[in-house]
Amino acid sequence: MKRSEFLGKGAAVGAAFGLGMAAEHVRGGGAAGTAAGSTGGSTAPDLIVVNGRVYTQDDALPSAEAFAIKDGRFLAVGSTDDVRNLAAPGRTQQIDAGGMAVFPGFIDAHSHPSGAGLNALMNVNTNLGSVARIQAAIAERAQKTPPGEWIIGYMYDDTKLSEGRALTRNDLDEAAPEHPVVVGHRGGHTGVYNSRAFALAGVTAQTPDPHDGMFYRENGELTGKVAERARDVFARFINTEVTPEQRRDGVAVITREMSAAGLTSVHETGVSAEAYRAYQDARAAGELSMRVYALPRGASYEALLASGVRTGMGDEWLRIGAVKFTADGSASERTMYMSTPYVGRPDDFGILIMSQEEIHEEVERAHRAGWQIGIHANGDSTIDMVLNAYERAQRMWPREDSRHRIEHCSLVNPAILGRIRDLGVIPLPFYTYAYYHGDKWEEYGDEKMQWMFAHRSFLDHGIPVAAASDHSPGPYEPMMALQSMVTRTDFRGRAWGESQKITLDEALRVCTVNAARASFEEGLKGTITAGKLGDFVILGADPHETDPMALKDVAVVRTVVGGRTVHEA
Ligand SMILES: [Zn+2]
Repeated sequence: MKRSEFLGKGAAVGAAFGLGMAAEHVRGGGAAGTAAGSTGGSTAPDLIVVNGRVYTQDDALPSAEAFAIKDGRFLAVGSTDDVRNLAAPGRTQQIDAGGMAVFPGFIDAHSHPSGAGLNALMNVNTNLGSVARIQAAIAERAQKTPPGEWIIGYMYDDTKLSEGRALTRNDLDEAAPEHPVVVGHRGGHTGVYNSRAFALAGVTAQTPDPHDGMFYRENGELTGKVAERARDVFARFINTEVTPEQRRDGVAVITREMSAAGLTSVHETGVSAEAYRAYQDARAAGELSMRVYALPRGASYEALLASGVRTGMGDEWLRIGAVKFTADGSASERTMYMSTPYVGRPDDFGILIMSQEEIHEEVERAHRAGWQIGIHANGDSTIDMVLNAYERAQRMWPREDSRHRIEHCSLVNPAILGRIRDLGVIPLPFYTYAYYHGDKWEEYGDEKMQWMFAHRSFLDHGIPVAAASDHSPGPYEPMMALQSMVTRTDFRGRAWGESQKITLDEALRVCTVNAARASFEEGLKGTITAGKLGDFVILGADPHETDPMALKDVAVVRTVVGGRTVHEA
């Protein structure tokens, strides 16, 4: 093909995509404008990638060998010869993919990176595999911490300890008798506290449980485990001072790690004012390696709402996302609120955090103000309540393509699936949980697991289910996610809810096209298409030719965002 013909074709496709963006409030604006020919001077690309096995995820041109990028966006996609033709010596960088598989950058549409990054900088990682090792790590930190000051552990996982039991108050007392200690579960909904911490907060074995939380007891004694809002009594005693520089560095650390796993965009679900600042600081310092759709909650949401800001404001690097609420407990910590009880605990249906009235109220306010809404709802009973509110809002104040989200949406049934489809709601079930948290699913049982993290059911109902790690609770690695969704088999080799298996190509779409849709950005990202953002990954092996049980080990050789390499193995 002649150079001008080829470019013209690419530019036309790019323009079509730019103008076709579904959501008026996040229209990219530049999508069409930066396609070929509009930059005044040279049309020579900044970067070309050739000799690849490019899986574009774009139905109009599903596979290609090569593509060119200019001004941060794909300029043209096609054969190696055609793309080489566009290059100008001295101006165009060339990457020879050497026959390796290339995909659009992966998108994690539900995650908590800024908190994870800060933890990594400041607190004690307790993802250590045994009570003894956790005790040693806490004791070591105690040596370096003035008595009376808090020691905070993170990434604790109660089912991954070699002793075969959970961490207790006594374990922490032994490790650090002079310090108040909390070891937070990686799920984010429970923590284990020591006696010093309980004494500070004035909590004893006789203290009643609040309606939205629990102090766990055994034989009349506090075990140390505290769930949900019962933890609020400790909050005012934990005076950890964090500087803006530390927050910025936390963002830099975690986004680098996520880039190395092949992620080019992340949705942070629940962003504070401090985290917004941290993202902007990291970006200004040139240390933000991925794009962020930042969902505010609480005070930062109220302030944005009062300022007239709504979902979609920002740019292709940092954008205001949906407002985030949390309506029930956790899947991995077995506190989500369901219509049927947990296995072995006939009276335990989980913990509800928002009442139906509260959900109605918040949905009404946000929906009428033009916001997209994302509500954390794991259990089927909670999902019903959220759908009640979305249906009511849509009925009373109809809005086109409001695309409200249900974060996690873990346990479903046919009625829920129908309602989600009819409303155009986006579910975001955990994408690595079947694999990583398999040791927890016994408490739900096989029957429920056929309806949990129901990727197959969503797709069969025509629902564009999107990718979600929920890091720190879940690992964010997209390669592990592919393995988890395709095999539904845990790290010990046990299968969970096999009826929910999806194909590799379906799983790839969940992590690219569908995840882009969850932020109204399908016109900007999710496929390798002329006009879209130049975000892509090169993998060390083609997942299509990899044993599904080994997908998690496929190497990410290079991650590129907007034409700039942010990770190279
Ligand atoms: Zn979350």
